[in-house]
Amino acid sequence: MAEKKGFIRKTKQREVILNVLRSTRTHPTADWVYQEVRKEMPNVSLGTIYRNLKTLTEMGEALELSYGSTYSRFDGHADNHYHFVCEECGDVTDLELPVQDSLENSVGDSIGAEITHHRLEFYGICNHCRAKK
Ligand code: ZN
Ligand code: MN
Repeated sequence: MAEKKGFIRKTKQREVILNVLRSTRTHPTADWVYQEVRKEMPNVSLGTIYRNLKTLTEMGEALELSYGSTYSRFDGHADNHYHFVCEECGDVTDLELPVQDSLENSVGDSIGAEITHHRLEFYGICNHCRAKK
């Protein structure tokens, strides 16, 4: 019985974390998710947030976006889509660009591989940062 309770609590935590992640399109850090989840579950620890974000990523419910030097960001919208990353402020924006499936076919054909998915990132200076200059 105690075991079952623990399981329900874990499932509940994961659900809250996923809801927080899906409530935004800003691609937040684990720390931001932590601050938001705490409003609903004050006793949650940062370690729990990290563990659940990892699980959600492994389950294919979320994406982990890592851009080298900065902290990982998370995306609760796991369907394939492209991002623009501002090199100035670090903002990550979803692009409306349709996913180029034809790219997978031509890459697959050219190297004789079966392509399962692809990622494409665009980098530059966002319009807010450009306006500041
Ligand atoms: Zn910017
Ligand atoms: Mn995204």
